[in-house]
Amino acid sequence: MVHAVRLHSVGGPEHLVWERIEVPEPGPGEVRIKQRAAGLNYIDVYHRTGLYPLQSWPAVIGMEGAGDVVAVGEGVSALSVGDRVAYGSVLGGYAEERLIAADRVVKLPDGISYETAAAMMLQGMTVRYLLRETYNVVPGTIMLFHAAAGGVGLIACQWARALGATLIGTVSTDEKAELARSHGAEHVIVTSREDFVQRVQEITDGKGCDVVYDSIGRDTFPRSLDCLRPRGLWVSFGNASGPVPPFDLSALKGSLFATRPSLMGYTATASELRENAAELFQMVESGAVKIAINQTFPLKDAASAHRALEARQTTGSTVLTV
Ligand code: NDP
Repeated sequence: MVHAVRLHSVGGPEHLVWERIEVPEPGPGEVRIKQRAAGLNYIDVYHRTGLYPLQSWPAVIGMEGAGDVVAVGEGVSALSVGDRVAYGSVLGGYAEERLIAADRVVKLPDGISYETAAAMMLQGMTVRYLLRETYNVVPGTIMLFHAAAGGVGLIACQWARALGATLIGTVSTDEKAELARSHGAEHVIVTSREDFVQRVQEITDGKGCDVVYDSIGRDTFPRSLDCLRPRGLWVSFGNASGPVPPFDLSALKGSLFATRPSLMGYTATASELRENAAELFQMVESGAVKIAINQTFPLKDAASAHRALEARQTTGSTVLTV
């Protein structure tokens, strides 16, 4: 038996229960991981509240973690007991030990700690596909990136700078603005006192951005579209304020493009996963991207971590220590 944080029904953070669970031996194609750290992500909140429905109950939520392989199932040749591994976007992370399909984990380079891996796998691979695949960000690209001081946001600020792009970030407070700026945001809009559409128009001399990365959802729709140049791309990749409501396609006037991507959609095959993770590791090992672990909570206190994330009190990434 090991400890895990489980949900028995959807609801508030108090529904996250620290309890003992059985983890069976790995089946064919699976490995068992003893986790050293787990990651906190906004998707954990969507799972807890029911915005993203879970398939089976009770459920161990959490999509990210890092640790050591302690058992290997039949047919697994790429991993051995003792390997240091990490993953992002596989349900079941809030646990001391877990089973996982061997082809959904990657080996960790020696230079990357368990904590850094648990903090960055999901958020960092997300930034990689957003900036390198959803839109091909190149020197001179101008982007609006909402929630620029968050977990995904601080990685995006640094990655955009490394690519020679101009990132305009939005944040809710002056402290967060300073943080985003120090991580590479060229312009920061403080939404509690500035109108982001007006500021984007001023910053871009009325031209608009090539691409808008919007993870806020309801509160920034449809105004994010007003920040784009003709034929610009609106990337709606999250719903921190609630989902984007159904809308008429005529909202995309100006020949705009829209997409609703997910990390799973960009790492569906083992080779896509490996390629994405390898580029993230390279960015972190080269020092171009530093992972800001600005909060840690014991795993058993995941409820407090959820409260802080939903109250917009966190910045950068949050690790749950196992
Ligand atoms: P963050 O650390 O960015 O936390 C969310 C931030 O959103 C807050 O800190 C806050 O920043 C901002 N925010 C704006 N409005 C609200 C609101 N009403 N309630 C709460 N927060 C609000 O979280 P993550 O880095 O984990 O994730 C960022 C976003 O990216 C999430 O929407 C997540 O779902 C999405 N995501 C999508 C993925 C995909 O593949 N589609 C993968 C990974 C993440 P401020 O106070 O500065 O406004």
